Amino acid sequence: MEARASLDSLLRDLRTRLQDAGIENPGLEARMLLGTATGQGTAQLIAHGNDAATAEQAARVDALCQRRCAGEPMAHILGRRSFWTLELGVSPACLIPRPETELLVEHALAAVDACSHENPRVLDLGTGTGAIILALKAERPVIEAVASDRSLDALRQARANADGLGLDVAFLQGTWLAPLKPRGTFNVIVSNPPYIAPDDAHLAHGDVRFEPRAALVAADAGLADLRTIIHTAGEHLAPSGRLLLEHGFDQARAVRRMLKNAGYTAIRSHVDMAGHVRITEGLLIPEGPA
Ligand code: GLN
Repeated sequence: MEARASLDSLLRDLRTRLQDAGIENPGLEARMLLGTATGQGTAQLIAHGNDAATAEQAARVDALCQRRCAGEPMAHILGRRSFWTLELGVSPACLIPRPETELLVEHALAAVDACSHENPRVLDLGTGTGAIILALKAERPVIEAVASDRSLDALRQARANADGLGLDVAFLQGTWLAPLKPRGTFNVIVSNPPYIAPDDAHLAHGDVRFEPRAALVAADAGLADLRTIIHTAGEHLAPSGRLLLEHGFDQARAVRRMLKNAGYTAIRSHVDMAGHVRITEGLLIPEGPA
């Protein structure tokens, strides 16, 4: 009978296959996939590297490796992704949380802290996995957190993440602000809406091929949803409320202009770790009596 491969040799083989498939981080991903296939953590795998793998483990590694080599995102294969300080469940119904969106969380936290309200009301539009609102609620438990999404499947995932983390967020189904009555009660509104232009070549590469198009692509060179949000958020903001938006690296000027036209002031943009202007925010002070 053929001797069974050790966990270490499975790991080496996995790494080589990922590397040959053009995966950028083959060592890291090989360890993550082996961990998923064997149910063991990295420390355990290092300590038991010489142990023989079972036939089931080898078959599971092979199946996961095939999926990854076919381009499926790690977040879908593992069913989770780290974001901020949280570990979030991810499904193909949601955008996969990205590191640049942590910049939106950072500035939204500053906006929450700048608000004199005891329990600032915070709204996240198009919440997906719930990444943004859950990070905010985890950092500032006093906020009253509300989030909307058009997709019921995305909301199911967001609710499961909130329940798993024990965080209290009210989830509403509907497009952007449609499920809310315009009552001017939110101190902070945040969103990472779709902003990629329909003909953007990068939609043909990497993880985005497996993510919902509705979470990525917007009409009018990617600006349509940003515009809708900017023009409807105002009547939901409390006096001196802030709107913070993630957008494409080349959309800051257009977003700033739209905010200005909608009456926002103190408009500021922020640069992400890759050097792209990624976030723009504005403050809405109601006009005084004429
Ligand atoms: N930043 C993502 C990307 O370019 C897109 C996220 C979004 O459309 N909101 O892949």
